[in-house]
Amino acid sequence: MSVRVVARIRPLLKLELDKDSIVTAAPAGNETVGSPTVVRIPNPKNEGEHFSFQFNSVYDQEATQQDIYDYEVAPTVKHLFNGFDTTIFAYGVTGTGKTHTMRGGKSLADRGVIPRLLSSIYRRSRKIEKDSRGSTQVEVAMSYYEIYCDRVYDLFEPPEKRTPSGLPIRDNNGKTVVVGLTERPCTTLKEFEQLYDQANVNRSTSATKLNAHSSRSHAILCVKVTQTTETHTRISTASAIDLAGSEDNRRTENMKDRMVESASINKSLFVLAQCVEAISRKQSRIPYRESKMTRILSLGQNNGLTLMILNLAPVRSYHLDTLSSLNFANRTKKIEVCEVENEPVLRNIKGKLSATANITGSNIQRQ
Ligand code: ADP
Ligand code: MG
Repeated sequence: MSVRVVARIRPLLKLELDKDSIVTAAPAGNETVGSPTVVRIPNPKNEGEHFSFQFNSVYDQEATQQDIYDYEVAPTVKHLFNGFDTTIFAYGVTGTGKTHTMRGGKSLADRGVIPRLLSSIYRRSRKIEKDSRGSTQVEVAMSYYEIYCDRVYDLFEPPEKRTPSGLPIRDNNGKTVVVGLTERPCTTLKEFEQLYDQANVNRSTSATKLNAHSSRSHAILCVKVTQTTETHTRISTASAIDLAGSEDNRRTENMKDRMVESASINKSLFVLAQCVEAISRKQSRIPYRESKMTRILSLGQNNGLTLMILNLAPVRSYHLDTLSSLNFANRTKKIEVCEVENEPVLRNIKGKLSATANITGSNIQRQ
C-alpha cells in the first residue's frame, strides 16, 4: 500500500480577479527552480510569518486538467491492470475545485480525472485484447454511490426510490460490501458517460430533496476491471472520490441538521486523514474500520495505491479553512519569518525546508 499526497491551487475565479493570491506553490529546500512541492501561506495571526507545507507535488494556478491527469493519474493505470486497486480522493473546502478536478467540464480540455481515466482504461483494454489476439477479455463495470450522514445511497437509484436508512453494509470474507448496490457493465466510454451523467443528475436531485447541498456527501465512483484469460480471472478496482467539503460548518451554521452532518463529515474525514498518515508511515495498523467510507474502500487492506489531491483556493476568504485543510493533510509544517515583506522568500528559507518531514512512501515517480 502506498500513498501520495499532492496539492492543487485553483486559479482566481472571475469574481476574484481583484483579489490577492495568498496561497502559493514553491520548490523545496535549496532549490530555486524545479517542480514545486511546497505550499506557502501566511500565518493569519502574524502576516510577517509564513507556514510551509511539503507534499509529494504541488500544482499551481497554471496547472491544467491534462497536467494533473498525466503526472498523477496516468501512472496508476498500469498498476490497475496489474491487479492492484487504486483510489483517488479530492479533499478540500467547498469551492476549491474538487468536482472540477474529478469530473471537470464538458469540453475536451476541461475534462477531469474521471473521464480521462476511463478513456485510458478503455484504450488499454482494447490493446490488451488485441495483443492477446482475443485470448484475454477485459470487462468494465461501474458502481456509483454517495455517503451522506454515514448512510450509503446508490446513485443509480432515483432519489424517490431510496430507502431513507440507506443500503446495509456487510463483511464478506474480510472485505466490506454494500448490499444491493447496482453494478452496471459499461463497454465503451460513451456508455460510461451516459451512466455517469445520469447518476450525477440523481446526485443533485437527492441533494435538493435532502435539503442538503451535494457538498455535504462523499461521492464514490468504483470502476471494476475484470481481465479474463482461459486459465484465470483478475479483478481490480479504481475508485474516484469527490469528498464532502472539509469546511467547519459549525462556524457559520448551527442548525441541528447541519450539526449532525458536520459531525459525520468531520469524523469520516478525520479517519481518512489518519489512514493516509498511517499508510504513508508504513504503520501496521491502519484505522480504516473506524468510518464507513474508509471501511467500504478497505483503505489499507489491499496492496493498492492511494492518491489524495488536496484542493486549495488562493484567496483570503478561505484563509482559515485552507490552513485547516493543510494541517489535516500534513501535520508537519515549517514556519518562516519574513523580515521584509515581499523579499524573495526562497533565500530566507534555504536549508529549512529540506528538513521538513513530509508524507512519503509513494512509489510513483513524476514522469
Ligand atoms: P468543489 O467541488 O470543491 O466545491 P468546484 O469544483 O465546484 O469546487 O469549483 C468551484 C468553482 O471553481 C467552479 O466554478 C469551478 O469551475 C471553478 N474551478 C475550480 N478549479 C478550477 C480550475 N483549476 N480551473 C478553472 N476553474 C476552476
Ligand atoms: Mg463539488
